[in-house]
Amino acid sequence: MTLMKTAIDYWFTIEPYVFVGITKKKILLYNTLDGVTIESDKDEVIKLLLETLQEENCGVVLLTNERYKQKDINSFICELREKFMGDVIDIALSKGKPVQLLPYFNFSDKHEIYKRHNFSLLKNVLEKLSEISIHVDDTTNITKLIPFLLSIQGSPTFNIIGNIGKVTYYSELLSYFDQHSSPKNILCSYKNVIALQPTYENNFSYRISVHFPIDMQQWNISRQVLLNQTLPVEYVFDVSSDEDSQQVEQLVEQYQIEKYRLNPIYTGDNIRFFEENVFLTKEDILSTSMTIKDFFTRQAMNIYDFGKINIMPNGDAYANLNHPALGNIFTDGIYEIVHKEVEAGKSWFRIRNQAPCNDCVYQWLCPPPSNYEIAIGRPNLCHVSK
Ligand code: SF4
Repeated sequence: MTLMKTAIDYWFTIEPYVFVGITKKKILLYNTLDGVTIESDKDEVIKLLLETLQEENCGVVLLTNERYKQKDINSFICELREKFMGDVIDIALSKGKPVQLLPYFNFSDKHEIYKRHNFSLLKNVLEKLSEISIHVDDTTNITKLIPFLLSIQGSPTFNIIGNIGKVTYYSELLSYFDQHSSPKNILCSYKNVIALQPTYENNFSYRISVHFPIDMQQWNISRQVLLNQTLPVEYVFDVSSDEDSQQVEQLVEQYQIEKYRLNPIYTGDNIRFFEENVFLTKEDILSTSMTIKDFFTRQAMNIYDFGKINIMPNGDAYANLNHPALGNIFTDGIYEIVHKEVEAGKSWFRIRNQAPCNDCVYQWLCPPPSNYEIAIGRPNLCHVSK
């Protein structure tokens, strides 16, 4: 008597800590525990993953023996198992279909996010106001501005941007902030630095912007003002060319600048500089360490803009200065301004969902669109897709 060998069928499953990016032509699996990835452009593999990710399949599909033996599927599963990103289970060893909870994120409507998290949208978003940037100049009206600031709850970071020395009664504004424990950043050009100490001490810091060419006389004056106090200082160097970057290196060394960063500036004719220094390569993208929560966040909101409001000297309020105003603080409350952004704004929820990114497996691995995309007029600043 010959023994008939029964073909074994399997349950195919992906681990819940694996994020899957999928398009019609390619898949990417990203292991959020160690950053290891698998990519495949094989039709059979893409089909298998598409089935696995269907919500009704809950991350588990039946894999017939015949399908398991298919060359592309078999080598994909070997790699998947080697990298601890998924498994196949003999169906005979399981009483029914195993349960797997994949980290789905399929909210087509941003308000759905809030509903699912079961909280009152506006109340919570108001609590999430993380940064208020107040742009000042000689037209800033302190007596109208301070009552608005008093209406803001919590302890968001306040950025005071511009030549504060030009603001009439600016010391009243600084005294107001000095009574608050919130972090306060004075953002100004090195040409407009004012001394804060010894009068104001409470949680102030400087962010000094530097644009080339430098006026060395002004630079030396500002260095002296800053050296005479102990408040934290960060330099932000505007760079639009390699020459600018080299100048930054020299300045940093010569003046022993400890904290600084480069702020690439698009001038309209330096796209090559951006291609070489700002555009992402596949290696840059894959070297980003991501958690499952990071993937969710990138699908829900723009981390550059979310929770932030800008107020201009005339009272106009923006989530992002590149998008329409949300209201005016002299006529609208913070509640109305935030409500407008949540309901109809273009900034807090601007995510990477446009072509070509919406057909790219790195869609949610890439950072959200920044102001550079707007300035350059391209939805993607990468070397992956032209
Ligand atoms: S920027 Fe867009 S096209 Fe480029 S790699 Fe990222 S998601 Fe893909």
